[in-house]
Amino acid sequence: MKIYVQTDLEGVAGVINVTDYLAPAGRYYEKAKRLLTEEVNGAVRGFAEGGFDGIVAADGHGAGAVDIELLDSRARLMRGWPTGWPLLLDGSYDALAFVGQHAKAGTEYAHIPHTQSWHYLDLTVNGISVGEYGQLVLCADELGIPVIFASGDAAFCREAKELTPWVETVVGKVGTTPGSGDELDADAYGRSHETAVHWHPELVRRRIEEAALKAARRFHEDPSQFGRIDIEPPYKLVARFRKHGDAEPHEVEREHPSSIAELMDML
Ligand SMILES: [Zn+2]
Repeated sequence: MKIYVQTDLEGVAGVINVTDYLAPAGRYYEKAKRLLTEEVNGAVRGFAEGGFDGIVAADGHGAGAVDIELLDSRARLMRGWPTGWPLLLDGSYDALAFVGQHAKAGTEYAHIPHTQSWHYLDLTVNGISVGEYGQLVLCADELGIPVIFASGDAAFCREAKELTPWVETVVGKVGTTPGSGDELDADAYGRSHETAVHWHPELVRRRIEEAALKAARRFHEDPSQFGRIDIEPPYKLVARFRKHGDAEPHEVEREHPSSIAELMDML
């Protein structure tokens, strides 16, 4: 049984802000990588105990953020980004999971929410608003692969439950910034949602392990309790971008007759 574990840095407990934690030049970048990798290890322990013997941690953060030397050796590390969608996910996987994920652009009370970059206001596929979680979940759905587990900040977990009510979630921190930030330009938006209350990393890792085990057991009992997304082809994507420098807010539309993954590659 094989599981694809998508990882990102912004949703990890203890990852505090953009400047110090998210880019290689940041003074706490190495700490951030360790914090993410230990959360991933919690998930690996749970999934392994729950019967998954093929665990692949996909490093989804822009600059890369999983430290392979600290990674539980039952998992393999995959760097598929930046390939096209669906980020090297394929039909060989049985299930999908997320660790350290952040909420989509414009989410109130989220910690460092964004969709791909600071530039997006929103992205919809057939009217369904999706962030990075929803995009990969839709691609997985197209392959018949269900999402079973997701961890990140509280607003992200609400987003995950709204799109996929069956998913097991773990909250590692709670963003405290009100408002969507839709009125801000891209640079200001990137600094706008950095306040949060974080749980202790050790506690979060234990909760991740327990919930990953629970998700794995539920999956093995009856995979059909992890549902499918209610969406039918043809597919239409609408991306709305915020103002940036001299560029005014604008909208882009794309259509594809049969594939969400190929549709997203058209952006
Ligand atoms: Zn991200």
